[in-house]
Amino acid sequence: MSTVADLVVVGGGAAGLAAAAAGTRLGLSVLLLEKTDRCGHKLALTGGRKCNFTHAETPREMARRFDCDPKPLLPLLRRFPYQRVVNFFGSLGINARAGEDGCVWPADTDGPGLRDRLVDAGGEVRTGVRVTGLRRENGGWRVQADSGEFAGRNLLVATGGASYPHTGSTGDGLAFCRALGLAVTDWFPALCSLRPDRPVKHLAGNARGRVAMALEIDGRVARRAQGHFLFAHNYVTGSAILNLSGYAARALAESRPVALVADWMPGTAPDRLREEFERLRRDSGRRRLANALASRISRRFADDLVRHCGIPADRVLAELTRPERDRVLAELKATRFDITGTEPMERATVTGGGLKLDEVELATGRVGRLPGLYAAGELLDTWAETGGYNLHFAWATGIAVAEAVAGRELR
Ligand SMILES: Cc1cc2nc3c(=O)[nH]c(=O)nc-3n(C[C@H](O)[C@H](O)[C@H](O)COP(=O)(O)OP(=O)(O)OC[C@H]3O[C@@H](n4cnc5c(N)ncnc54)[C@H](O)[C@@H]3O)c2cc1C
Repeated sequence: MSTVADLVVVGGGAAGLAAAAAGTRLGLSVLLLEKTDRCGHKLALTGGRKCNFTHAETPREMARRFDCDPKPLLPLLRRFPYQRVVNFFGSLGINARAGEDGCVWPADTDGPGLRDRLVDAGGEVRTGVRVTGLRRENGGWRVQADSGEFAGRNLLVATGGASYPHTGSTGDGLAFCRALGLAVTDWFPALCSLRPDRPVKHLAGNARGRVAMALEIDGRVARRAQGHFLFAHNYVTGSAILNLSGYAARALAESRPVALVADWMPGTAPDRLREEFERLRRDSGRRRLANALASRISRRFADDLVRHCGIPADRVLAELTRPERDRVLAELKATRFDITGTEPMERATVTGGGLKLDEVELATGRVGRLPGLYAAGELLDTWAETGGYNLHFAWATGIAVAEAVAGRELR
């Protein structure tokens, strides 16, 4: 160990790289330590390698996408609206393009390209250095690693969450926080597929573009989401499910009953659906129920729905009894899946849990109780819906730390 850096960054993911690039631009000496052979493995994978890196929304709208009290979050989001993130990447030569849904992507490069620009801007980067311990000494910080010791006047822990561990995010930050006496919440999968109690393997691959989902916890609707839906082998997934999954995971961990109720036709009110169905019965009474449904939902799904309603496969529309019709219509507007589990943590897109937010001043990343200590990114105990918000949070918290250490803002 020789020099003392102004800022030592532990973890070369989105948050650590943003802090290192911003700190370097602000004139700080920055040393970034990354345990894998290369920074930003996870960052390179984001958005199907296209990297949905922020979302064009106001800070207030954005705050609603996060699973935390908006009060401590809003000052951070007001300091870092999405335009600031777009400008930050613009200054690195990365132009942005926004989709109609508000998701913002790099215009002329991909996830790996964006990662490489950040690394180039990030001061001294050492890869293959696994940090094993942190301690406060002589008013600064010492960082123990498997390859030696490093010293910094300030220290940022940006080791991410615990999902996709092959990218390096193995949850080490939680142990560091615990060893420093900080309050943490255990990890849980937050953006992940959910496992229903009945087999869905035979429906694997069946998708719906827009489904309205209600998440019930303890028999009461706790959240609603709309979006894409897909049957996977043993799971149900898609954006509507992902955005509810963190709440489901937490309730399951507390052994509370969890269910999803799917409205497969959110654009059609129940009365109108009934009218349409009765008209179809009058006009095409000899048509099989399953065939009629297959024109609105997929073939396999229609067969399954008919079976699930206990109706013989060859039943034609004209022969349906009143209770059978009621069952089919009810099922189209509210199919219930009792949920028994989540995808394993390793496969979750984002993890919940981490360093509790009341230990951190979010707008600066300062860990209140320990001078010179900062935290950023997924290590913190919050997570957001899909749509670029999780990366936005990583950039905002990372750059905020660099500005707090430098004592001035990036221009
Ligand atoms: C497949 C996938 C797709 C995604 N797509 C999107 C998307 O399009 N938009 C979006 O907003 N979010 C997306 N996310 C989420 C987003 O990638 C994360 O929220 C974000 O990367 C978190 O950044 P971070 O810097 O906090 O942590 P990470 O990116 O996980 O980085 C942590 C880094 O710390 C290093 N590290 C860990 N322990 C140590 C140690 N002991 N010593 C040294 N280094 C250590 C790790 O190797 C890693 O490089 C996606 C996630 C996945 C898995």
